[in-house]
Amino acid sequence: MKIEINLDFIKDMGEQKKDENWKFRSYLKALDIEPSELDSIVRKINNEVSSQIDCTKCANCCKVVYPVLDEEDITRFSSGLNKSIEEFKSVYLSISEEEIDKFNFNALPCPFLKDNKCTNYTHRPKDCESFPHLNKEDFNSRLMSVIEFYSICPIVFNVYEQLKDTLWHRDWRNYI
Ligand code: SF4
Repeated sequence: MKIEINLDFIKDMGEQKKDENWKFRSYLKALDIEPSELDSIVRKINNEVSSQIDCTKCANCCKVVYPVLDEEDITRFSSGLNKSIEEFKSVYLSISEEEIDKFNFNALPCPFLKDNKCTNYTHRPKDCESFPHLNKEDFNSRLMSVIEFYSICPIVFNVYEQLKDTLWHRDWRNYI
């Protein structure tokens, strides 16, 4: 399948395919497949797709998604900046409204994004490192965020579309 990287197109598709994406989520939820088998299919497709997409030409996640930072992330990130934890927190972070005891950057695009690259990359938060989280276990339990990221991340868009092609239209047992 052709790999789609046009962010405007992907955003439009997020609207146009909203119903289809929710329908496919329901299909996946009801699918008679072991979670580990589904994870392995997703990993395989994700690895194929990711190898064909250059994140430094995109950086859309850094422009539109607030990553979550815990205390460990904050300690590591501030040390990479040679700033104290308190200074880093007061200048760059706000308390997360969704997760207890966690923080978000207080601005988008990420204040540390320059020329589509992270200026503190080796000290980046775990949430940034694992984005778009497709290699994590139990894909089926994270489908709401997959649909959320479908319209902003080319990797998620292409993986979800290829999953539809693989699981909706063919016998997934041939894919394992
Ligand atoms: S993870 Fe997705 S949104 Fe982020 S830079 Fe890579 S392709 Fe773009």
